[in-house]
Amino acid sequence: MTYLVNDPADFPAELADGFIAANRRYVRKVFGGAVRATKSRPGKVAMVVGGGTGHHPAFAGWVGQGMADGVVFGNIFSSPSAGQAASVARAANQGGGVIIAFGNYAGDVLHFGQAVETLKAEGINASIAVVTDDIASAPVDELNKRRGICGWVTVFKVTGAACEEGRSMDEVLEVFAKVNYRTRTLGVAFSGCTLPGADGPLFTVPDGKMGVGLGVHGEPGIYDADLGSANDVAQVLVDGLLKDKPDQAGDRVIVLLNGLGSTTYEELFVTYGAVARLLGEAGVTVVDCEVGELTTSMDMGGVSLSLTWADQEIERLWNAPCDTSAVRRGAVEGTEFIDAASLSQTAPALTVTTPGSPQSRTVAAALVLGLESVLEAMRANKDELGRLDAFAGDGDHGVGMVRGAENGLAAARDLAAQGGGAQTVLAGAGALWSERAGGTSGALWGGILAAAAQALGDNDPADVGAQVRAARAGLDAVLRIGGAHPGDKTMIDAFVPAVEALEAQLASGASAAEAWSTAADVAEAAALATAPMRPLVGRARPLAERSIGHPDAGAVSLGVIVRTISDRVGG
Ligand code: ADP
Ligand code: MG
Repeated sequence: MTYLVNDPADFPAELADGFIAANRRYVRKVFGGAVRATKSRPGKVAMVVGGGTGHHPAFAGWVGQGMADGVVFGNIFSSPSAGQAASVARAANQGGGVIIAFGNYAGDVLHFGQAVETLKAEGINASIAVVTDDIASAPVDELNKRRGICGWVTVFKVTGAACEEGRSMDEVLEVFAKVNYRTRTLGVAFSGCTLPGADGPLFTVPDGKMGVGLGVHGEPGIYDADLGSANDVAQVLVDGLLKDKPDQAGDRVIVLLNGLGSTTYEELFVTYGAVARLLGEAGVTVVDCEVGELTTSMDMGGVSLSLTWADQEIERLWNAPCDTSAVRRGAVEGTEFIDAASLSQTAPALTVTTPGSPQSRTVAAALVLGLESVLEAMRANKDELGRLDAFAGDGDHGVGMVRGAENGLAAARDLAAQGGGAQTVLAGAGALWSERAGGTSGALWGGILAAAAQALGDNDPADVGAQVRAARAGLDAVLRIGGAHPGDKTMIDAFVPAVEALEAQLASGASAAEAWSTAADVAEAAALATAPMRPLVGRARPLAERSIGHPDAGAVSLGVIVRTISDRVGG
């Protein structure tokens, strides 16, 4: 139960503001999150961490010298937007590029992935780095499908120290990959957590049982087992992790024993005593440990155990000086505060910095008309898209696409009226689409528009060749950001053949109208052809069977959008 609540809707923003006010030694507010309060060495690689809130001290507690340079605050258990992440990353950047590091959840992967695209388009070297420590969430041969649940404490500490040492972006990413691979976590839940304003917990665990393989967003555990003593629980966790020991790991570990929110420190110490004894019996040496609340899940009852199989470099970086509100080591150098006056605390206004060329402004005007038509088409198809998404997804695809198109259009109109060229107008539309639409598809459409915008530029006319290149850039972006493959039953299954058709038409000298009309036919047919497929990614995956016989909602909306473009180009 959460007792101290004002308006539940304000809870995430109020907790972020309160954290910042309480930690002036460590952080300063910026739109989307916070950055270090102290000056950093120019040119260092910056690491921004983040994700949903409700996990204290993850993630804000790790901002400070020697660890993270910035944090992005989401809502409780839900991903921040790409715009928020990009804002924090820009403020954290010291000129050496930015790594955005977070746990493996679809919403975070998409939004942070899109933020990286935006940053790169602005000339900032940026990369995502995804933590995958939860051994219960996928088998060992599918490491990249595992969730992140608590091992990020070690992963971020070690990676942050590598940034501080002045290592290059590639070297830092190598360190991240190594320490992430060597970090494994298993947890058990005794009781579920209750979201602020909710009547009851997200899940319950039957009396006398524990959920083994918990998640940190109210996921109950992969299976229930009998709840035994502290020794028994320690045994389950240690046995599970020793079975999942990475290759060539040695026998030295950094240990994290984490309380999920309502497990007492006393219980944690009793359990840690057993963990230490069991590791010793197994011939494993504990290099160092942290016992306490390291990643909570609001008021959930439970513990998780993480082992990072150390090598010399990991040990050195783990022990390097660090000063954050939650992790401190030794003495850090230089504690001069930044000048925070330049940090913007509000959402950036849509402004045109460089006006487009006259030719590109003509393209921009056509794009505004195109987005008007897209909005009209999404409104007309809203209920049908929602119906298709409801078979195995959550039924929000129509609503999301309408909200995305409304906001994209508003941004495009504003920027076109200010004299923006095609790139400025379409990139702005994508940013607001992603920010406001929500859902997986919102992030993906934001990425599509951002990439297409870059292909169009702010100076050139958009002949059929440029249009096809923009469509290809949009497809490449969604493949890269979403990571889906043809046959997974997503919008990709309509998008790939549509772009291939456009490219074939271009090669054979077709006009824009011919090319788009063919692409629309191809996309619509391909969308319908997804009906017999099983969804292999996205929210529909767990209920895949229910989707069979119905076309994928995102593929259908893609077909509608290609048809809309075709109608505009041809008409
Ligand atoms: P959510 O699934 O978050 O509720 P929407 O309902 O708006 O988002 O969109 C669902 C659609 O998103 C799916 O029908 C599918 O076409 C598309 N989608 C989901 N995951 C991916 C992905 N990884 N790559 C490409 N498209 C995806
Ligand atoms: Mg949906």
